[in-house]
Amino acid sequence: MSEGRTELSQLGEFGLIDKIKKNIKLQNPETIFGIGDDAAVVSMDEKNLMLISTDMMVEGIHFDLSYMPIKHLGFKAVATNVSDIAAMNGFPKQITVSLALSNRFSLEAIEELYEGIKTACETYKIDLIGGDTTASMKGLIISITILGVSLPEKIVKRSTAQKGDIVCVTGDLGAAYVGLQILRREKEVYKSNPEMQPELEGKDYIIGRQLKPNARMDIIHDFAELNIIPTSMIDISDGLASELMHICTQSGVGVQIYEDKLPLDNRTLETISELNMSSTVCMLNGGEDYELLFTIKQSDYEKIKNNPEICTIGFITEKEKGLHLVSQNQQLVPLKAQGWVHF
Ligand code: ADP
Ligand code: MG
Repeated sequence: MSEGRTELSQLGEFGLIDKIKKNIKLQNPETIFGIGDDAAVVSMDEKNLMLISTDMMVEGIHFDLSYMPIKHLGFKAVATNVSDIAAMNGFPKQITVSLALSNRFSLEAIEELYEGIKTACETYKIDLIGGDTTASMKGLIISITILGVSLPEKIVKRSTAQKGDIVCVTGDLGAAYVGLQILRREKEVYKSNPEMQPELEGKDYIIGRQLKPNARMDIIHDFAELNIIPTSMIDISDGLASELMHICTQSGVGVQIYEDKLPLDNRTLETISELNMSSTVCMLNGGEDYELLFTIKQSDYEKIKNNPEICTIGFITEKEKGLHLVSQNQQLVPLKAQGWVHF
């Protein structure tokens, strides 16, 4: 036991996880990889690996039911777990769902939640195989554990990027964060005057990205078809800068990305301009896009260059060069990872 008291806010989420990880000794040879990646890796037999990941969502911290339909919450809770399996280059198979509920919730509300969970299970072809149900003093907590499969030669970790690799992201960035700003704004407007009509016209895309994110299993199928195994991969839950930091620290490398290469949808840009925000900040630090960030060998570039869902944003450097963004006016700006600090 250490003496004194350390505030969790001093450590942050990642600092705390590092502390927990330090005191864990693995005892079973079947545990191939424990804490530290998007999913743990466990061997089932000589050939097949099982992937396991878990994610918890807490009312008031991760979601607000005043603007999130509970059905969407069910879908999102599953999709975010699927995204962690995708980030290992695996295929999701089963989930368990655990709920803590206060008496504010009715049977009908929970049925709605499960409608969303079932839709996600159909979308990603996974089976709901169990869970746990308990009471909570206040609000809703949903925790999902997901099981997936992969093969030893196909697993992709965060820690294996190499100098010279090309850095890629799927889809576009910042939309989920900007969607959240709009939902929050409308909630405030509603609170101050319930007669006001919400101004959501033209906001379907960004709001959809916040409320109903899609795990990029399509890309994992593309990798199999194109015969590509990324050299490292992570899903973008906390924001591009934070995920780049994870890949770089764990791989012992640096990175250089280019501001003008970051993928932004026009619909996101429109709202960013309206709100007077910076599109680069939204793309670097906005969370919850659930796109994939990965690196490939230069020799694989030909295989992805025509894929409209993948864009190349930079390259891996040696560790000493650090993490940088080359701005539109050719300035070298150090990347700071923020991540979501809940403490
Ligand atoms: P992700 O954002 O991909 O879900 P996290 O940042 O939540 O990943 O977790 C990073 C790693 O730390 C994972 O391997 C996860 O299993 C592990 N981890 C997170 N919280 C804990 C905890 N309380 N105890 C043990 N391991 C944890
Ligand atoms: Mg992840």
